Amino acid sequence: MAEQNDEQRQALRLRRSLIGMIGSLAFVVLAWSAREFGLVAVGGGTFWLLFAPWLLGYAGFVGLILSGRNLRLNDPSCTGPQVLWSALGPVLLYPLAPELAALCFLALVSAGLFGAFRLDPNRYMALNFAIVLAAGAGFVFNLLFWPGIGDTMAATLAFAAFLVAMAVVTAAGLELNSFRRVLMDRNEQLLQAFGRLRDMSIRDELTGIHNRRFLMDVLQQQRAQHDRREEHVFSVAFVDLDHFKRVNDVFGHSKGDLVLKRFAEIAAKAVREVDYVARFGGEEFVLVLVGTPKENAVLVAERIRRQMAALAISDELPDFRISASFGISQHMSGEPIEETLARADAALYDAKHTGRNRVVLAPDPAPVDVTAPVDDSSAGSAGP
Ligand code: GH3
Ligand code: MG
Ligand code: MG
Repeated sequence: MAEQNDEQRQALRLRRSLIGMIGSLAFVVLAWSAREFGLVAVGGGTFWLLFAPWLLGYAGFVGLILSGRNLRLNDPSCTGPQVLWSALGPVLLYPLAPELAALCFLALVSAGLFGAFRLDPNRYMALNFAIVLAAGAGFVFNLLFWPGIGDTMAATLAFAAFLVAMAVVTAAGLELNSFRRVLMDRNEQLLQAFGRLRDMSIRDELTGIHNRRFLMDVLQQQRAQHDRREEHVFSVAFVDLDHFKRVNDVFGHSKGDLVLKRFAEIAAKAVREVDYVARFGGEEFVLVLVGTPKENAVLVAERIRRQMAALAISDELPDFRISASFGISQHMSGEPIEETLARADAALYDAKHTGRNRVVLAPDPAPVDVTAPVDDSSAGSAGP
């Protein structure tokens, strides 16, 4: 999901840069047309000397994003530099063509909106202020060096209109910015809630270890891995606390709950990170021991059994002990996962009936001979 989000973000950055580049291209085409009508005070050579690098610079941003190199930067969207760069063209043209003030101001106002998408409010305002300062410098330059050209009053009104437009655009941009932040916060909250829900759906509420539903998924995954690679072995330990009803009867239900939690802690500590401990239901638990043959699984179960048997659960009755019985099976090739569990359960049944507080290893299932010859007589009788 994270990867998909990264791809989507990169696509969005590319789209924004392309919009900026197309806008700059349109600006240059308009400026060039105006120059053809004699409205720009430079020759064709100087015009391209100024504006070709500007266009190429914008293409550079697009190239940067296309190549993925932008991801190494602090701000991969390059919004600040792109806004400044897009403002550079109109800032250059304005003193060369005072009569194109409307074109330059419109382009600057568009640049002034762009930063709202990414920048934090302070940087956004600082950037727009820089654009206003640059345009103001152009305006003063025009008043000083082009006094005879055009109407000073009209130029002043145009600049005032630009200032108002910039103020409105910046205010609207800030609104957009805060709206975006609210959306991002909501998104974050939703993601966290989703994580909590997912956690709740795979964990047992009382003990915090995995629940039965998750266990069955894990077992199916382990089986699939074993089907792909025979060396991937795993064992299952079915556990049932002995005479657990007595704990409830003697100490009450909440003490019983505490004992269930203690068992879950002991079991979770006794296994490795890659293993799983799940509450199967009531006072029954299942351990999935990944990459562990049955002999090693017996050792792990023994360790937990001993720790459990040594656990004093009450100060008032220090000799009261609670033990656990274990049935172990190793998953066999071709066996349904329910069968692996059933064999562990049968071994647990044996453990219960041979005195409890013990670990019993299930015998391997009798191999099925798939090459056994077909019984001719039954084949014959099956016919019409
Ligand atoms: P055995 O050695 O044969 O397993 O005896 P047992 O008493 O453990 O087995 P039984 O199935 O008769 O009793 C299980 C008890 O576990 C009964 C039930 O009240 C208790 N139990 C099941 N779930 C919970 C729980 O969430 N909290 C508490 N406190 N007790 C529970
Ligand atoms: Mg039970
Ligand atoms: Mg029990």
